[in-house]
Formats: sequence, structure tokens, C-alpha cells
Amino acid sequence: MIAEQLQQVEERIRRACQRCGRNPEEVTLIAVSKTKPVEMLLEAYQEGCRCFGENKVQEITAKYDQLPEDISWHMIGHLQRNKIKYIIDKVAMIHSVDSLRLAEAIEHEAAKRELTIPVLAEVNVAEEESKFGLKVPEVLPFLEAVAKFPHIKVQGLMTIAPYVENAEENRSVFRQLKQLQVDIAQRNIDNIHMDILSMGMTGDYEVAIEEGATMVRVGTGIFGARQYAI
Ligand SMILES: *Cc1c(COP(=O)(O)O)cnc(C)c1O
Repeated sequence: MIAEQLQQVEERIRRACQRCGRNPEEVTLIAVSKTKPVEMLLEAYQEGCRCFGENKVQEITAKYDQLPEDISWHMIGHLQRNKIKYIIDKVAMIHSVDSLRLAEAIEHEAAKRELTIPVLAEVNVAEEESKFGLKVPEVLPFLEAVAKFPHIKVQGLMTIAPYVENAEENRSVFRQLKQLQVDIAQRNIDNIHMDILSMGMTGDYEVAIEEGATMVRVGTGIFGARQYAI
């Protein structure tokens, strides 16, 4: 089942790229495996998946030990400062850096271990109350401050678009994040790179790709619906 769903997602990524004249190799699929057992991740791994997205520190550390070493783990959920130390040497990228205090704490932990951590600035484009992320006007001052941290490499921007029935409703959100990426890139800030746009989930990744996503985070579309313990 996972093999088929994965193929379907990959096919839809290819077609979305075709529609807008992009090379599918520009788009990295992150298989969002939160709440799913390692057996399911292994199945996706056997089908070629090497990038997995998780939103909980404990889940990353547990799965990390049980799965092959050539997996790139992407932290996509809200990160508490006191938990950075558990994952800092395990993750390929932190997508959810949304405050200077968090960035400072990452810098501190990374310096201790002589690591440089690739991160994305999380932007709450739609300014939803329920979501984390910087507001659009906060992003530039944030990046100007983070640029001075030698153990953090900002690689781009991430957003979680609102939950909508029709993916088209999120097109303007994705377009705004793309525009912000272009605006920031033009400033050529030292140590600030704008190569990555992490946007689009199961319901809207094709629209996100049409608007310039270079990473899409797809969970339900690959692994099926999640059941949360009550
Ligand atoms: C859960 C999650 C996803 C994947 O959501 P689906 O709708 O299941 O594809 C993507 N990004 C983040 C930040 C998430 O927490």
C-alpha cells in the first residue's frame, strides 16, 4: 500500500513540475512519518525514501536508533529549547526555527559539538493564531540576527499553510512565501541562503510546487491517516 501511495505522490510531483516547467529533481519529497511505526518507515525506505519528517523529539530519537543510517531526519515540529540537545546530532535540518531565543539555543548546542546545523525560518504567512512561526515583517530582522551565528546555516523558509478544503485557497500563501524568499535573497546577507522553500502538505503540495516549493512534506498521502491516542 505504501509503495503504491508513494508512487502516486511521486507521479503527482512530476506532473506538477511539468505543468510549470520545473525539473522534478528540484523538489525533495519529505515523507512525514510522525505517529507511524518503524515498519511503515522501512517500507517507504525500501521504496527509495531517504528523507523523513517528524515533529516530536522523542519520536526522532527512538526511530533514529532503529532505522538505517543513511536517512535524513527533518525536524518539522515546534522545538523546545531544552530538547535541542537530544536531536542536534541526528537531524539533517530543522524546519521550524521561529524565534531568536530558539536560534540562540541551537547555536549554543551546535557550538558545543562543533556542528553546523542547517535550518529554515518558519513563517506564519497566514498569521493563524493557532500556529507557530514568524510574521512576515519579522523575518528579515530575525535573519539579520541569526546570520551572525557561526554554527547555524539558514537555508531558506518554511510555512504551514492553513487547512483548507480547496488547495487553490492556499496559492496566495505559497506565493507570499516565494516572494519573501526572493526579497531576502536579493539582499545577499552573509551566511543567509535562500535555496529552500519547504511548503505544501498532502492537501496542497501540487499547488505549492507550482508556486516554487523545493521541499514538500507529505504524510497522509504516503502513510494514510494518522490516529492520535486520546
Ligand atoms: C503533519 C505535518 C505534515 C504532513 O501533513 P499531511 O497533511 O499528513 O501530509 C507536514 N508538515 C508539518 C509541519 C506537519 O506537522
